[in-house]
Amino acid sequence: MIVGAVGISAVYQTARNRPPIAYGNLSPESIAKFNKKMAEAGDQGSLFVLEQLVLSQWDNENDYGAQDTAGWTHIEDDRFIVYYKDDLNNVWKQNAQLTLRLANEAIPQMKAVFGKYTYPEDINGRKLPIYLPPTRSQYGETISILYGGPTDSEGSLGMTIYKVSQSGYLPMGIVLLKDIFDKNADFCNSLVVVLPHELSHYVYASLFQFSDDCVPMNWVKEGIADYVAGRNPQVQGQDSVDFIERYCDLKKDFPVEKGNFSNNQYWAGESFFNFIKEKYGKEKVNEFIQSTYTISIDSALLVTFPNKDMHREWVDGLKTNAPSNQAIALTNE
Ligand SMILES: [Zn+2]
Repeated sequence: MIVGAVGISAVYQTARNRPPIAYGNLSPESIAKFNKKMAEAGDQGSLFVLEQLVLSQWDNENDYGAQDTAGWTHIEDDRFIVYYKDDLNNVWKQNAQLTLRLANEAIPQMKAVFGKYTYPEDINGRKLPIYLPPTRSQYGETISILYGGPTDSEGSLGMTIYKVSQSGYLPMGIVLLKDIFDKNADFCNSLVVVLPHELSHYVYASLFQFSDDCVPMNWVKEGIADYVAGRNPQVQGQDSVDFIERYCDLKKDFPVEKGNFSNNQYWAGESFFNFIKEKYGKEKVNEFIQSTYTISIDSALLVTFPNKDMHREWVDGLKTNAPSNQAIALTNE
């Protein structure tokens, strides 16, 4: 999985005459810090590796889905490869076609929010693999294979797996749970929501300039993904607003909770972005998100919203909206 013998220059020379995105200043200490932080936040999808990755890992011919023994077939275009398993009624072929179409349709919105979309030419020619395992057990198995070790995918509807090394950003792929293709799935647990959510992770991580100062916040990452997907209804319930007021400090990761307030990184995170959009316009959301690629969360808040207490404004805004019902807790890696 990891090979450390290839130097940056060799990578460059064979990289179709363009340099890879290089994180030249990723120190062993900062990589250890990222991995620890991601594990604490319950993030199963990101893997930071010390060694440089070899260029051949970017080639889709070496994808897990392209291995003869793995039993996948695929459809592809210039940007995506969707891996699925054949069935007699072509159900999964149709699901793959729908996935390919929706992935392409999501690109303009990604560009708007993240400032740009990450095309194959930005990452050594690699097309983004999307896997559609037909069973729950194959879902978990596919995730573990892409990740390169055991992972806990229980409760998730999709997963975006990538590696960051000194050789650059390597998306291993998006894996989608079969349930989201169910015609009776709730809107917020369906392909039209989960796919843009996962694509947001793919784009955000590719643009993020990992450094000692800049460690991704889970509420930013999940909140913006749900915002892009338009997943959660307004925050509802006085207890949810109270929870946000007490515990959702924008300068820190939101707490990992069980019960009513589980997944607050998702619904509370989205609520913050919805609030910004309503009060300051969607350009402000984009500006804030794009600032988090290169500067700390404290600086991003300060630069985008000078002289403002955004937590206070957000909570006051929620209180004004007179929430009434229970919080909705959703899970989606
Ligand atoms: Zn997510």
